[in-house]
Amino acid sequence: MKIKDLFEQKKTIFSLEIFPPKYTAPVESIFETLDGLKGVEPDYISVTYGAGGKAKDRTVEIAEKIKKDYGIESMAHLSCISSTKEEVAAQIRQLKERGIENVLALRGDIPEDPDFGFPTPLHYEHASDLVKELKKDGSFSIGAACYPECHLDCVDLKTDIKNLKYKVDCGVDFLVSQLFFDNEEFFEFMEKLDIAEINVPVEAGIMPVMNRNQILRMCRLSGCKVPKKLQRMLDRYGDDPASMLEAGEAYATEQISDLLTGGIHGIHLYSMNRPDVAKRIFNNLQSIRRLQK
Ligand SMILES: Cc1cc2nc3c(=O)[nH]c(=O)nc-3n(C[C@H](O)[C@H](O)[C@H](O)COP(=O)(O)OP(=O)(O)OC[C@H]3O[C@@H](n4cnc5c(N)ncnc54)[C@H](O)[C@@H]3O)c2cc1C
Repeated sequence: MKIKDLFEQKKTIFSLEIFPPKYTAPVESIFETLDGLKGVEPDYISVTYGAGGKAKDRTVEIAEKIKKDYGIESMAHLSCISSTKEEVAAQIRQLKERGIENVLALRGDIPEDPDFGFPTPLHYEHASDLVKELKKDGSFSIGAACYPECHLDCVDLKTDIKNLKYKVDCGVDFLVSQLFFDNEEFFEFMEKLDIAEINVPVEAGIMPVMNRNQILRMCRLSGCKVPKKLQRMLDRYGDDPASMLEAGEAYATEQISDLLTGGIHGIHLYSMNRPDVAKRIFNNLQSIRRLQK
């Protein structure tokens, strides 16, 4: 089913994100994650895309398995900055052959290696270039990324939202946000999208804190702020992994509950291939999920 239609049918969408195992590990190791998610009943599961190397082929393979073997809708991420027109065409063909109906169209991060050879000509400079290609094909419901606290490469949020408006107008059906820890930032962002007449549904990206150093690194890399409340939690529990995990789950639960109360239409949990964490958070939310049906 297309995610665009899911948004029309349901008051709130709950989705999960997983990443493919490294190419050196057997692809089947992802089944442990998927088996562990039994009972969570997400509306869909998305599978991330590695920019280069063989691991990128696993995205489509896993997205197909989620749909066919587990009966859960799936979405394949696809990034374009390092791809030629032929490579993107081959990816699109593969997605269709495998019955994937939903794609998260991404630019991908600019490789840090100064000697990285970008394809020439560079057909896909922005995600909007990929959105146009997918839209022209007509087979997919198209999602795209958005950044409540501004994308790191952009001068300011106003410009980023202007670029986002253009991307959405190229054919995006729904947006999934980058992780954030301060709901007020997200609610303000939603108001700004409304003013910019960006009217597609937006899922809030929530990442449960499982490890202090890992989360601080993610915040640094993504430009996501660490609110005082989160910093206090990291200071108090950061050296004690079990307590950190429990506190992180409580923080994510509270964040999601507040977002749903505030009328947000979708939650995308960056579950980091930890089904146990996803399960506990979704269990914590059972009563509020019932209210959202
Ligand atoms: C939900 C989510 C999932 C992700 N999954 C993956 C994944 O699976 N694999 C992966 O490699 N990365 C993934 N990423 C990371 C993403 O690829 C990076 O954040 C990347 O730097 C930007 O991608 P984008 O699609 O948002 O790019 P774009 O929409 O192209 O935006 C990138 C920058 O360019 C600017 N821009 C956009 N359009 C224009 C324009 N027309 N003119 C001038 N400037 C413009 C924007 O303001 C922004 O600063 C994900 C991010 C999110 C939020």
